[in-house]
Amino acid sequence: MAIDFSLTPELEDIRLQIRTFVDDVIKPEEERIEGKGDQYGTAEPLSGRERIEALIGLRKEAFKAGIWLPHMPEEWGGMGLGHVELAMIQAEAAKSYYGPWVFNCQAPDEGNMHTLLHWATDEQKEKYLKPLCEGKASSCFAMTEPEVAGSDPTLIRTRAYQDGDEWVINGHKWFISNARRAQFAILVCRTEDDPDLPQAANTAFIIDLPQDGWNDVREIETMHGGTGHSEIVIEDLRVHNDQMLGGRGQGHLLGQYRLGPARLAHCMRWIAQAEMALDMMVDRSLNRFAHGSLLAEKQGIQWMIADSSMELYQAKLMVLHAAYKIDRQEDFKAEVSMAKHFVANMLGRVIDRSIQVHGALGYSTDTPLAHMYQHARWARFADGADEVHQMRIAQRTIAAYTDDGSTRRATGNLPI
Ligand SMILES: Cc1cc2nc3c(=O)[nH]c(=O)nc-3n(C[C@H](O)[C@H](O)[C@H](O)COP(=O)(O)OP(=O)(O)OC[C@H]3O[C@@H](n4cnc5c(N)ncnc54)[C@H](O)[C@@H]3O)c2cc1C
Repeated sequence: MAIDFSLTPELEDIRLQIRTFVDDVIKPEEERIEGKGDQYGTAEPLSGRERIEALIGLRKEAFKAGIWLPHMPEEWGGMGLGHVELAMIQAEAAKSYYGPWVFNCQAPDEGNMHTLLHWATDEQKEKYLKPLCEGKASSCFAMTEPEVAGSDPTLIRTRAYQDGDEWVINGHKWFISNARRAQFAILVCRTEDDPDLPQAANTAFIIDLPQDGWNDVREIETMHGGTGHSEIVIEDLRVHNDQMLGGRGQGHLLGQYRLGPARLAHCMRWIAQAEMALDMMVDRSLNRFAHGSLLAEKQGIQWMIADSSMELYQAKLMVLHAAYKIDRQEDFKAEVSMAKHFVANMLGRVIDRSIQVHGALGYSTDTPLAHMYQHARWARFADGADEVHQMRIAQRTIAAYTDDGSTRRATGNLPI
C-alpha cells in the first residue's frame, strides 16, 4: 500500500515558509494597501500607483526568499513541484487575497503558463513564457463570447480566415480577465468549416497587446466590483501564422488541457478561503455570548461548524486525489470535474455559514467575509458551470455502469 498523506521534511519547510511569509509579510501589507490597518477602518487605501509599488515590493521579497513560481519546472525558474505538492502550497498562498499574485501563481497567468509549456514552440516559449515566469509580463485567455453559450465552445463565432501567411480575425469576446494588464492574449477562434468532430473547429493564436483590431471596449462591472474582466471587440485583427498556438483545430484540446490543472489550482485557492471562513466561524463562536452560553456551545451553531468541517475534509481529499492523478499522468478529467463542482459549492456554503455566525458583523465589510462571499459566487460557473460538470459526471457514471455493470470507475476508481 502506498497511500501517504505526510509531507517530506523539505516540503513541510516550504509550506511553513509560505505560511510565515503570508502571515508576517503579505497580510500586514495587504491591510496597509486596503486601508484596513486601524481599528475603525478610517485609514485611506493606497492610491493606484502606491498599490502597484507595494505589490511589486512584495513580489521582490518573495523572489528573494525563493518562494516563486511553485507550479513551474526548475528550468523555467520555478520550484518544480508536482500537483499534489502544489495543492499544499496554493492552499497556504491563497490565505491572502494577494498571495497567489505575490508568488506568481495567479489566474489566468498560471493556466497560461501550463498551456505555453505544453503547446508553444521553442520561439514562442522564449518570447511569451519566459517573461511570464520572470514576472515581467502578464497575460489573458480569451474564449467566452456574449452571443453564444460559453459552456459549449463548439458554438464559438469569432472567426479567423487565412490570408497568405497571416490570419484575419473578427469577433467578440467578454469576461476576459486581466485583459487590460496583459502583454499578450491566448485567443481561441473558429478556423474550420466542416471539422470531423465539432470540437476540432477552433484554433488558438497568441496575440501581442495592444494591437490594432483588438478593442477593449469596457471593463464589466460585476457583483464584486469592476475587477478587470474586459469586453473585447475584434475587428480585422491580423496575426502571422507563426502566432498559432498548437495546431489547426486544436483550440478545444488546448482549452481542455489548460483547464485540468487550472481548475484544480482554483480549487486549492478556494480551500484556503473556505478554511479561513471556518477558522473565523469557530473563533467568533468561542467569543460571542448569547442566551446564557457561548455560541460554540449551541447545537445549532455546532451543526454549522460540523457540516463545514466535513465538507472541507471532503474537498481536500478530492483535490489531493485529482492532483495525484494529474501527477501520475492518468486520466484526470472525471476527478477534476467532480472536485471543481464540489469545492466551488462548498466554498459558498462555508462562507455563508460563517457570515451567519458573525451576525451583522459578517454582513459588514469590517471582516473579509462579505468580499469573499461575492467572489465565491463566480466559482460556480467560471471554468465550467455546475450543470455542465454534472452533465459530464452523470454521463461518465452511466457509461461506467453500462460498460462494467458497476459505477465504481466513475467514483474516483478507488480500490474501495
Ligand atoms: C469572473 C469571471 C471571470 C471569467 N474569466 C474568463 C476568462 O478569463 N476568459 C474566458 O474566456 N472566459 C472567462 N469567463 C467566462 C466563463 O468561463 C463563462 O462564464 C462560463 O464558461 C459559462 O459560460 P456563459 O457565461 O456563457 O454561460 P452559459 O454557457 O450561457 O450557461 C449559462 C447557464 O446555463 C446552464 N447550462 C449550460 N449548459 C447546460 C447544460 N448542458 N445542462 C444544464 N444547464 C446548462 C448553466 O447553469 C450555466 O450556468 C469568466 C467569467 C467570470 C464570471
